[in-house]
Amino acid sequence: MIDLSSKTALVTGSGRGIGKEIAVKLAKAGADVAISDIDLETAKVTAAEIASSTGRKTIAVAADVSKGEEVERMFKEVFGAFEKLDILINNAGITRDGLIMRMKEEDWDLVLNINLKSAFLCCREAVRPMMKARSGKIINIASVVGLMGNAGQANYSASKAGMIGLTKTLAREFASRSINVNAIAPGFIKTAMTDKLTDAEKEKLASGIPMAKLGLPEDVANAALFLASPLSDYITGQVITVDGGLVM
Ligand code: NAP
Repeated sequence: MIDLSSKTALVTGSGRGIGKEIAVKLAKAGADVAISDIDLETAKVTAAEIASSTGRKTIAVAADVSKGEEVERMFKEVFGAFEKLDILINNAGITRDGLIMRMKEEDWDLVLNINLKSAFLCCREAVRPMMKARSGKIINIASVVGLMGNAGQANYSASKAGMIGLTKTLAREFASRSINVNAIAPGFIKTAMTDKLTDAEKEKLASGIPMAKLGLPEDVANAALFLASPLSDYITGQVITVDGGLVM
């Protein structure tokens, strides 16, 4: 069994969806967790729910993680409550899909800023204290489309490919300080993000997946729990796909 007691974690975009499920898993394993979301009320409700179901300390922090000053304030709040940070999960992400000829510049910028720049900003805040502690786990939630591309998602797939490059670079920069930096590339997972698809689109997607079904947030959270734990101490700079065999 994975034991994360005495560990602290920050999960961005964890008010709902995959981030929430990751926060639940970490807390169930014994970690205290900061629930960060762009919407404070959502973060508060999730933090209270996790605290009451697991008995762990949780805090709710509101931040738009694409903005440097909000990320700085978020880290101050986290260090004020927890004094240290062992695990950072960069999970916040959005889509603004469209074929490139019709893609607006603002939709490119928004997706790159929320999905990729946010990870840079959060990693920059987290690594200094992790370096001092000579330990840390950073997990970036990328996507299979960052590995294989996807028509209609130039902005999103570029942001996720960028996250993978960021992961490998930081893994090299901090390996000697015992900070592990890895990415998870989920395939198609049942959340609000994929609820936007029609049933016909979901069926078409599933038919292209060797396991012939969409995944669950819990499937991604299980991989995050492993990467956040000492079981992954000799693993860094890797991308773990959680996709029912879509990319192999
Ligand atoms: P989701 O249900 O839409 O949740 C995304 C979360 O991020 C929400 O809580 C949202 O807050 C928050 N968020 C959005 N913009 C933010 C910002 N600027 N600052 C802080 N938080 C922000 O999405 P999900 O499906 O759980 O996706 C989670 C991650 O997995 C994303 O990075 C996504 O790209 C990745 N992923 C998902 C899938 C999939 O199939 N679902 C596949 C591959 C990768 P509000 O709800 O309050 O706006």
